[in-house]
Amino acid sequence: MQQIFYTAASPEEYWQLGKDFAFPDPPEACPFCRTSLPLKKHGFYRRNSIPGELPRRILIRRYRCRFCGRTVSFLPGFCLPYFQYTLELIYRALEYRLRQFLSWRACLGRFKELSWEPAHLRFYARRFLAGLARLKLILRQMRPQISLPGKENQRQQAAHLLEVLSFFGDIQSFSVRFYAHCGRSFLAPLAD
Ligand SMILES: [Zn+2]
Repeated sequence: MQQIFYTAASPEEYWQLGKDFAFPDPPEACPFCRTSLPLKKHGFYRRNSIPGELPRRILIRRYRCRFCGRTVSFLPGFCLPYFQYTLELIYRALEYRLRQFLSWRACLGRFKELSWEPAHLRFYARRFLAGLARLKLILRQMRPQISLPGKENQRQQAAHLLEVLSFFGDIQSFSVRFYAHCGRSFLAPLAD
C-alpha cells in the first residue's frame, strides 16, 4: 500500500537529503489489520523521479506491520504513483494544453530540456480527460459546496476543472488530498 504525504521540500532537496529526510512518522495503527501498534521502519526502496533534465533515484520510506507483516510506503507529494516525471511538470503540461489551449508544438516548446515527444504530452492530456467524471465526483465529496462544470463540452470542462484545482493553493495539496480521499491519484487509469 502507498500513502502520499505533502512535503514543502523540492524534489532536488528530497533527493539530496536521502535517508536524512524527515520522513513522516509511522502510522499508529495498521491500515490493513487495524492492530494499534505503530508500524516499524522497514527500509527503503528506490524509485525514479524526474523533476527536470536530471533523472533522480529517490528513496521511498517503508513501514511494516508487526502483526500482519504487510508494508506501507510513503511517497512524497511531488510524485504521482506510476509516473516518473514529477507532478509539477505533468500539471504544467495539463495547464498549457487544457487550460491555456496552447498548440502541441507550443506546449513542447515549454519543455525543451526534456525532449518529450508529442505522444508524451497527449498521454497526459488524454488521461486527465478520461478521468473528468471521476474528478468531479471526488471533488464534490471533498467539498460539497464547490461549483463544478455542468453541461459544457469536454474541453471546457477540463479547463474549468483545472481552474478549480488551482484554488487548492498548489497542485500538491490537491493531489495529496485527492489520494487520501479515494486511495488513487487523479491521473490513475479508471480501471486500475
Ligand atoms: Zn497489520
